[in-house]
Amino acid sequence: MPGWLEVLTVAVFGLCVGSFLNVCAYRLPLQQSIVHPRSRCTTCGRTLSWFDNLPVISWAAQSGRCRTCKQPISWMYPAVEIVTAAIFVVTYLTYGPTLLTVVRLVFACALIVLFVTDLQHKILPNVITLPGIVIGFICSAFLPPGWMSSLIGLVIGGGFLLAIAEAYYRLRGQEGLGMGDVKLLAMIGAFLGWKLVLLTLVFASFTGSLAGGLLIASGRGGMKYQLPFGTFLAVGAVLAATWGDPIADWYFGFYQ
Ligand SMILES: [Zn+2]
Repeated sequence: MPGWLEVLTVAVFGLCVGSFLNVCAYRLPLQQSIVHPRSRCTTCGRTLSWFDNLPVISWAAQSGRCRTCKQPISWMYPAVEIVTAAIFVVTYLTYGPTLLTVVRLVFACALIVLFVTDLQHKILPNVITLPGIVIGFICSAFLPPGWMSSLIGLVIGGGFLLAIAEAYYRLRGQEGLGMGDVKLLAMIGAFLGWKLVLLTLVFASFTGSLAGGLLIASGRGGMKYQLPFGTFLAVGAVLAATWGDPIADWYFGFYQ
């Protein structure tokens, strides 16, 4: 078991990375640079100083408002930072100080950004998914799940959704799934292999149905309200990457 200081360091590092992922999720859909200029208040445009930029702490200290214009700052920012830190800690506790942890954290960062951009803009930027497919495949060549499982995962992940998208389009005459979802699931397959990409689909459908049911029950979304599927694929992939291996072993062992 790693000591508490080690875990705390990973958590703080996760908070800081989460802060950067917020910048990426905000700027990528607007096609802005993620390194320049420095962070600004999205309402009044004032450049933020270092003490406005402390993950979670600045937001809490300012009661979720900009110090200058007093406009509210979305709770999504600290939420993304906390979730990133939590995923970093759980991944570290699961895989320890290994190269696989590093790869899984890079993968998780991509998923967090895609979760936010799909939720807020219904966009899954190609600048993340396409390099993600390549990086996932290369890393899997010398780490679990191995190149063969990765390649099959990539092809069935992307191919499965492509077939559904095509069928839906022919039946309904409108697009139900975007190509962004197809590329995202191909990326997930490349990183996690074929077993876990199937489990991702199960988790995504389950959390998607749950969220859809809750929305309808709360009267906030009708049957026609379209939930961004990529958001749930990202959630499903994080779950599968963290807890998927024992479940997949049990499930596929069961049917052999
Ligand atoms: Zn402001």
